[in-house]
Amino acid sequence: MKLRTLVVGLMATALALTACGKEGAPGSEGSGVTQEAIAGVEVAGSTTFAAMKQRGNVVIGVKDDQPGMGFKDATTGQFSGFDIEIARLVAAQLGFGADKITYKTVPSAAREDTISRGEVDYYVGTYTINDNRKQRVSFAGPYFIAGQGILVRSDETAIQNKDTMTGKKVCSVTGSTPIQRVRDQGLTEPGNIVEFQTYTQCVDQLLAKQVDAVTTDDAILKGYASQQPDKLKVVGDTFSTEPYGIGLNKDDSALRGKINDVLQKSYDDGTWQKIYDATLGKSGSAGSPPPLQRY
Ligand code: GLU
Repeated sequence: MKLRTLVVGLMATALALTACGKEGAPGSEGSGVTQEAIAGVEVAGSTTFAAMKQRGNVVIGVKDDQPGMGFKDATTGQFSGFDIEIARLVAAQLGFGADKITYKTVPSAAREDTISRGEVDYYVGTYTINDNRKQRVSFAGPYFIAGQGILVRSDETAIQNKDTMTGKKVCSVTGSTPIQRVRDQGLTEPGNIVEFQTYTQCVDQLLAKQVDAVTTDDAILKGYASQQPDKLKVVGDTFSTEPYGIGLNKDDSALRGKINDVLQKSYDDGTWQKIYDATLGKSGSAGSPPPLQRY
């Protein structure tokens, strides 16, 4: 009898744990800023929104390996970070609660293809707004301004800023603005540029001493450094401006307008600040919302 009770008890616990791991289960949202879904939302003229409503869920493109920005916990399956909270805020204001969100991990190099094929409804993942990308997708925002930085091993002394990377192996991600800048500005020799699909792969290479530096946005690098402060550090000043936008179907100006309204409201009513303070702001650096461009 006792054993049976124990087994039943364990099964109940396992079931409860499974329920907790389910996206959107009560109490599963890390930062506590996720909003309630707004009922009865309409976005006149938006084909993306019409499809979302028809489906009854929203598919959001994200990163899952960038701590503090877009990160999926391997054990619980829960997503967390600044980008994730922005994605959830937008979903809630479009009428989709956390339990109606499907996250799709999309690496930097696949973003324009994935968005333009309609495989995600919108994308929130350290995505810099620029003219090149605007030929294929559109952007709401910006909702944050990052800048390119450099991550090295904590015992590194030679690499101190962007001008001391010559002759060093520098890793970044395929299809990203930082790798393009390394090339354009000749920050190291072409043969010393190492590229992968994700920044995690670059960080692993850095820790394994296969490369000497990782370069991308400071917001991303700080997340990796804060996970292993004894092994990694961010050096030098930032050397670019990376305005983050929410990537959308190029022709869906109705949804872009609506998401811009959602962002503006969150800037005005303090929700953006709450999200920032609960995620990126935890590292101690102050942040405030950037002016919307309404591209
Ligand atoms: N913000 C840069 C970009 O959109 C770098 C970060 C990333 O690859 O997501 O290319």
